[in-house]
Amino acid sequence: MTPRGFPFRTMLLRGTRQADLERAGRLLLSIADGLAAVLLAPVCAACHEPLEQATRGAVCGACWASIVPITPPICRRCGDALPSWRERSLGESLCARCRRAPQRVSRACAIGAYDGSLRAIVHALKYDGRRTLARPLSLRLRAAAGDVLHGVDGVVPVPLHRSRERRRGFNQAREIARHLGPPVVDALQRVRRTASQADLPAARRHANVRGAFVCPSRAPVRGLTLVLVDDVSTTGATLNACASALLAAGAREVRALTAARAVTRQR
Ligand SMILES: [Zn+2]
Ligand SMILES: [Zn+2]
Repeated sequence: MTPRGFPFRTMLLRGTRQADLERAGRLLLSIADGLAAVLLAPVCAACHEPLEQATRGAVCGACWASIVPITPPICRRCGDALPSWRERSLGESLCARCRRAPQRVSRACAIGAYDGSLRAIVHALKYDGRRTLARPLSLRLRAAAGDVLHGVDGVVPVPLHRSRERRRGFNQAREIARHLGPPVVDALQRVRRTASQADLPAARRHANVRGAFVCPSRAPVRGLTLVLVDDVSTTGATLNACASALLAAGAREVRALTAARAVTRQR
C-alpha cells in the first residue's frame, strides 16, 4: 500500500457510499410517491388533477410552471403592468394610479398575476389551510423580488384582524413572510374589522381600510427600511394604509412584496 493509498481508498469508499445513499433516497421517495398515489389518491391543491409526486408538495409541477409572470414594462412604484405604448411614447414609468395619487409604498413586486394557477395556489393556502404552500410561494417571491429585498431591516406581514386569524388558525401573509430571509417584524395591528377588499369596488377600498391599521408605539420601526408582505394586492389600498402607519411611526422607507398582483387592464 502506498502512503497515500489508504486515504484515497477511504475517499473512494465515501464517494461510493454517498452515491448509494442518494440512490436509495430517490428509490424510497419514488416508492413513497407510488404508495401515496395508490393509498391516498392525493390531488393537486390547485388544479385537482391526481398528484403523481405527492412527496414534492401539494401542487403539481405543471401548475407551478404555468404561473404568469408580470413582464416589463411595469410601473416602477407599484409593479403593475404598463401598456407598452405609453412606455415607448411618453417615457413614462409610473402607472395611471401612481401618477394620480402619491403612494406610500416606494416599490412593490409580485411573483405573477392573480390569475390561473397562482390564484388557485393562493386560494388553497388561504381558504383550504394548505400552509405548506407558503414556503414554495415565498421562495418564488424571493426570486422575483430583485432589489426590493436589498438592504432591508425586516419584513412586516399585513395583519389579519384577531378574530379572523383565530378562525383561520394562521395569517397567510405571516407564513409567506417567514421564509423570505430578513427578520419578521410584527409591527402592525389591524384594529378594525374590514369588509373583504375583493368584495368592494375599487373606489371604496381606500375608505374601507383607512385607519384600520396601527403601529403600536413599542414596535421597533424608527429609521428602518421595511417590506410589507401580503398574499394579494389589487389597488394597493391595504398596502398604502399599512405603509402610512409604519411611516407615521418613523419607518424610513416601506416597500411591498405580494405573492400575486391583480393586474389592471389599462387603456
Ligand atoms: Zn396542478
Ligand atoms: Zn403604479
